[in-house]
Amino acid sequence: MPIPRRYTTEAIVLSRFDLGEADRVLTLITPDIGKLKAIAKGVRRPTSRLGGSMEPFAELTVALHRGRTFDVVTEVRVGHAWLRLRDSLESAATAWYLAELADRSLEERHAAEPLYALLRRAYELLDAGMAPGRVARWYEMHLADELGVRPEVDRCVECDRVLEADESFRWVPPLGGVLCSRCPGPPAGRTRLSLEGLKLLKAYQRLDVEALAALRLSSAVEREVETAMREFVRHALEREARSLAFLDEVRAPLPTNALAAR
Ligand SMILES: [Zn+2]
Repeated sequence: MPIPRRYTTEAIVLSRFDLGEADRVLTLITPDIGKLKAIAKGVRRPTSRLGGSMEPFAELTVALHRGRTFDVVTEVRVGHAWLRLRDSLESAATAWYLAELADRSLEERHAAEPLYALLRRAYELLDAGMAPGRVARWYEMHLADELGVRPEVDRCVECDRVLEADESFRWVPPLGGVLCSRCPGPPAGRTRLSLEGLKLLKAYQRLDVEALAALRLSSAVEREVETAMREFVRHALEREARSLAFLDEVRAPLPTNALAAR
């Protein structure tokens, strides 16, 4: 369906950059049109009507009209501001990371309803105070689903044998998941995966967010699964997310046992 000259949509700001004296170009994710670039003219002037409402980490209702290079924002209303999400740097940095992953997963102007809903839910969870690391893992796992690359954590990716609790496992993102102890696998990318790590990966696929938020876990296992999922997503998107460096800088230092395992 062609997009009309003027249209209104729900949107979340994924990224932005300043243009010229007072304009700003925004990358938006919308449910029906997917990712698009829009320009907010004069938005950096103190008198701008759009001003503070074109912020990230909020669900906006945006009126646009089609432009030649970018569609032009004519009106904005904030639907959900998710203000508590910004209270901690770690939660805000995680929100940037999730937005960057959505940005990199989408082509412009392809409907993105599931991904929009996923990002929206993740922001709600951050706003509700769920541990940012758990929100990020839950999001990465479901993003992989949406990209059609659900990690295999039940059977060996090479021989298809059901994984047994008493064997050893390796995490091999280029093969799509876990390799059993009997299969040789590729020479590189043989990160050992503990049984607890494997169980937690399964939990991220199977449990709902309430159950995930309630899990009692050692920080070593959380970090092991963090490393595993980041590696998986990097492989799926073919590069490292830029926002991770900032996220790692602002959050609490790693416990020493987790450092040793890296
Ligand atoms: Zn195998």
